[in-house]
Amino acid sequence: MTRTDEIAANLARVRERIAAACAAAGRDPAEVTLIAVTKTYPASDVLRLAELGVRDIGENRDQDAAPKAAEVAAQGVPVRWHFVGRLQRNKCRSVARYADLVHAVDSIRLGAALAEAARHRDRPLDVLVQVSIDGDPARGGATGAEVARLADAVAGTDSLRLRGVMAVAPMSWPAAEAFERLAGIAATVRADHPEAGIVSAGMSADMDAAIAHGATHVRIGTALLGMRATLR
Ligand SMILES: *Cc1c(COP(=O)(O)O)cnc(C)c1O
Repeated sequence: MTRTDEIAANLARVRERIAAACAAAGRDPAEVTLIAVTKTYPASDVLRLAELGVRDIGENRDQDAAPKAAEVAAQGVPVRWHFVGRLQRNKCRSVARYADLVHAVDSIRLGAALAEAARHRDRPLDVLVQVSIDGDPARGGATGAEVARLADAVAGTDSLRLRGVMAVAPMSWPAAEAFERLAGIAATVRADHPEAGIVSAGMSADMDAAIAHGATHVRIGTALLGMRATLR
């Protein structure tokens, strides 16, 4: 079995899971965007995914993502790059060059740095506010009243566009409970910012629960590409 066959078989299983979760929730699978998280995997896998029709690609480290994006662009293959990881302020300039959607803006300081970096782009940069579902800042994410303040701050810039929210479910929580809470937070943000309709939630292990609770974007690594050799 070639690597392309392996990814194609994994992709078929993931698409089935998305379809089943949507059917159970009475949702249209077209409402759910599959983002392939290719961290630790080479640009050649990104090209394989693109060939199989997956054009939304996620990465979590600028050091890996920037050269990968350049390699894929050099092949003339258009993909949308999602920066899903924790972003350091000194990487904003680099990320703003290739990213189409930055998922994890979780502080006013980071938002301001990204807004400054995005002024050099020819169009605004789409961003999501990362929220902490359990209030523990360890995995990143804004908490409580900070979420609305941060959403307002992002929406108030010329160079960023607030598109929604993102979260990682806390390990110790039942996934359904975590994503239900996220759905509530997402609705609150959307009430103030109607253009912020994205809910980025769900990874390989919990995408089904995320879709049941309204995820519009799922971020899938392992289930598409296999177990990563490193822990990240
Ligand atoms: C790695 C990663 C994913 C994908 O995780 P899998 O369990 O491999 O599907 C999703 N979101 C973020 C933020 C990640 O860092």
